[in-house]
Amino acid sequence: MADSTELRARGTIHAGGEWRAAVSGATREILDPAYALPFAVVAEGDERDTDLAVAAARRAFDEGPWPRTPVAERAALLRRVAALLTRDREELGLLESRDAGKTVEEGRVDIDCVADAFRYFADLVAGEAPGRVVDAGTPDVHSVVVHEPVGVCALITPWNYPLLQASWKIAPALAAGNTFVVKPSEITPLTTVALIDLLTEAGLPAGTANIVTGPGHTVGARLAEHPDVDLVSFTGGLVSGTKVAQAAAPGVKKVALELGGKNPNVVFADACATDDGFDTAVDQALNAAFIHSGQVCSAGARLIVEETVRDRFVAELARRAERIRLGRGTEDGVECGPLVSAQQRAKVEAYVESALQEGAVLRSGGKRPEPSAARPEAGYFYEPTVLDRCHREMRVVREEVFGPVLTVETFRTEDEAVALANDTEYGLAGAVWTADAGRARRVAGRLRHGTVWINDFHPYLPQAEWGGFGRSGVGRELGPAGLAEYRETKHVYQNLAPRPVRWFAG
Ligand code: NAD
Repeated sequence: MADSTELRARGTIHAGGEWRAAVSGATREILDPAYALPFAVVAEGDERDTDLAVAAARRAFDEGPWPRTPVAERAALLRRVAALLTRDREELGLLESRDAGKTVEEGRVDIDCVADAFRYFADLVAGEAPGRVVDAGTPDVHSVVVHEPVGVCALITPWNYPLLQASWKIAPALAAGNTFVVKPSEITPLTTVALIDLLTEAGLPAGTANIVTGPGHTVGARLAEHPDVDLVSFTGGLVSGTKVAQAAAPGVKKVALELGGKNPNVVFADACATDDGFDTAVDQALNAAFIHSGQVCSAGARLIVEETVRDRFVAELARRAERIRLGRGTEDGVECGPLVSAQQRAKVEAYVESALQEGAVLRSGGKRPEPSAARPEAGYFYEPTVLDRCHREMRVVREEVFGPVLTVETFRTEDEAVALANDTEYGLAGAVWTADAGRARRVAGRLRHGTVWINDFHPYLPQAEWGGFGRSGVGRELGPAGLAEYRETKHVYQNLAPRPVRWFAG
């Protein structure tokens, strides 16, 4: 893997098979959020770099071998990429940890999941029939529906799961035979840069995979509007996603959006009737809200708990939240890292302040922790925070905080629980905890969210679609639908016995 000195020397923009610096010569320092200190330097691309990368991807699509490569060979290449990711798991996991602030163990698990995505899409395309023959109702016609790559894909990704989110786009885009330009988040680009090297090592033809490191308002915006881009797949916040959709609209590009969430975790009292049940529901509520310091699009940031168990549940939750070990992700025994940036921490602090002003009751956290050997003073740490007595009118309940902040609301009836859980403009994910199988199925059926967990929180499967209802997005990643996003459907109708139709007499 290229180290930081090599990255600085060769640049981090990849167009047409060559690494380069930004046309402007600008660079950006990448910070380790645990220390607020730079540990790498990348090229700061702009519109000119974007145009070069799109031109390379366009040429590779129109004239290059990848779209015409047999499916079995494409699948074999994706499997080689998965093997290379596994080979570099330790280094990539560490890099993800330093870049995004997560623990090294989380970084390693991310890399395993990235490799899984490549394997899954390899298996999916390799196992497919080449087309679907349609019965045209006459033996004189042969009619078949085939799938073709869309073309040049612009892939724009966020900072919380940098390589994982990129892989959910890159693996299906390549499996389907597209070429692409990826734009990682400007604050966490390093593992995506490393992946481009692995794609080259696996034998991907030059120009197929391109990357421009740089900001959203220049590189991202240019990608979204670029006339030579056929599809834009975006993962990030609602505000940027809306801008991407608007920029792509005049060109009628295909657009896929994976946006934010405000995800309910509904706990019925019957789930807590036994000690084990109570322990599991509390444990998973902590996991739902605080893993990666809550910087997860599907974070269970809204606990909606049956009123009869609220006091006991919240007391135990707060007790355990206070014991979460905060520190730099590279330290042994640390359970939660810092927030990704000073800006992100300031946003979280503002939400907590507004919630307290609106009447929420603080049960744990609500402040920066004391510095310690594991927690450098300059790092962007914030304590896991439980806010009780919350209600729908509070901003902290309606808007995505994207930090370690859990709000607590209560209900008395099943209908009330469902109404609260669906009372959000988002619809990414939600969970229901109950010992009653009938109720579990009823509630899951009524939740307006793209993923519903019953007695669990957070797991996803590459075989199952991921995406949101409402303002959580458009389209799906993963699963067969996540491959279909990267394809055009073509009907080929062949007349085997052509003759005049005589519609026009003359
Ligand atoms: P963000 O919207 O600020 O940035 C996401 C990406 O878009 C970055 O690469 C950024 O540079 C780029 N960008 C910003 N403005 C742009 C513009 N005008 N045109 C084109 N590109 C632009 O999001 P973030 O802060 O990096 O990530 C956090 C958000 O991502 C949260 O809202 C989270 O819920 C969401 N997210 C969603 C999923 C999902 O699967 N639904 C997964 C991960 C993260």
